[in-house]
Amino acid sequence: MTTATPLILVINCGSSSLKFALQPVDSIDPILSGLAECLGLEDARIIIKDSDGNKTTQTLNGGRHAEAMEVLTRDLAQRGLLDKVAAIGHRIVHGGERFTASAIVTDDVMAGIEECCELAPLHNPGHLVGIRAAQKAFPGLKQVVVFDTAFHQTMQPAVYRYAVPKRFYTDYHVRRYGMHGTSCRYVTGEAIRVLDLDPADHGIIICHLGNGASATAVKNGQCVDTTMGMTPLEGLIMGTRSGDIDPAAVTYIARREKLDLDGIDHLLNKQSGLLGISGVSSDCRALEEAAVAGNPDAQLALQMFAHRLSRLIGGLATSLDRLDAIVFTGGIGENSSLLRAKTLEHLRIFGFKLDAAANDAAIRGKAGVITAAGSPVAVVVNTNEECMIARDTAELAGIQA
Ligand code: AMP
Repeated sequence: MTTATPLILVINCGSSSLKFALQPVDSIDPILSGLAECLGLEDARIIIKDSDGNKTTQTLNGGRHAEAMEVLTRDLAQRGLLDKVAAIGHRIVHGGERFTASAIVTDDVMAGIEECCELAPLHNPGHLVGIRAAQKAFPGLKQVVVFDTAFHQTMQPAVYRYAVPKRFYTDYHVRRYGMHGTSCRYVTGEAIRVLDLDPADHGIIICHLGNGASATAVKNGQCVDTTMGMTPLEGLIMGTRSGDIDPAAVTYIARREKLDLDGIDHLLNKQSGLLGISGVSSDCRALEEAAVAGNPDAQLALQMFAHRLSRLIGGLATSLDRLDAIVFTGGIGENSSLLRAKTLEHLRIFGFKLDAAANDAAIRGKAGVITAAGSPVAVVVNTNEECMIARDTAELAGIQA
């Protein structure tokens, strides 16, 4: 494999996993991607896939992130790609109030990410491990961090504060932060391009619907409101997360079931959402199949998903001067013509009218407008977080195609 273009290695590290994509700076498609999983366990392995779909799997013998990086660099060297890697971009879930944009990694930036660990205890520690492993494997290369929360830092206090005593904000940073910001930034750029909107004068609502799901109101390129909160639990119904629920219902359930705080956390994050309602699956495809087969709980889960989404879209619209388009993205947004149709049906009060043929056609990588002529616009856009991370990394590291 040869390429003349500089490459950006995009890394997304969890506590026991490391996803990567090798992205040419002038392309939206990676030339190599993969996943190291079960890190630290006996069956730790790394799977590497090239752009033709050829896959290799190598054991890591119980190794962790550093060992995964070692195997990856060896593999890149064998493919003649190691010298082409010009910089590394890391996805970071939580940047708190400190990070309002992507940044080059320094000791100070590492300390800042560490400070945000208490806001994302399941994610940020894994990211730090990943950055250190990448620094060791690629000494001398610039490393860039791209935060999922950064895009939402333009929200105003009236939008991001919770109605609890102020000291919880000042002492513990309790406020709404929002997630999926990297996807929102990419999708905003694509929506502007595809719909020929004015970059300085537009209003859109982005529905990023995957296993995690959120909707975000964007005014003139900036986030003005979003449905996720201090954590990803707030807002829409998700695969296994409840989204919005009366906090008093939670304390009531806890008393009835004698649940401690970890038990509540597990219930609302892992056992609720589409899975909890349906008892079938957290996966939208499986639910759609079960619904067609007549399962009433699967049917209800899909109805609830569309109802909650349309209800929150209506709320988000109140932060805009104008609604140019609703944008669907993420695994569900890009593929479930059923949920898009159900959502727009709820939004008929605003004049939305589906183009059923266009909606059915916008699946598996095909994007485009899905509303009829004369209707307010709804459009499907394919998100690409890796590409956004690679672009930021190239820009901050001063790398050109
Ligand atoms: P993501 O987290 O963005 O990868 O999205 C995962 C979600 O997308 C899962 O709920 C999948 O069931 C859903 N999804 C993927 N393909 C389809 C499809 N063809 N129809 C409905 N849902 C889909």
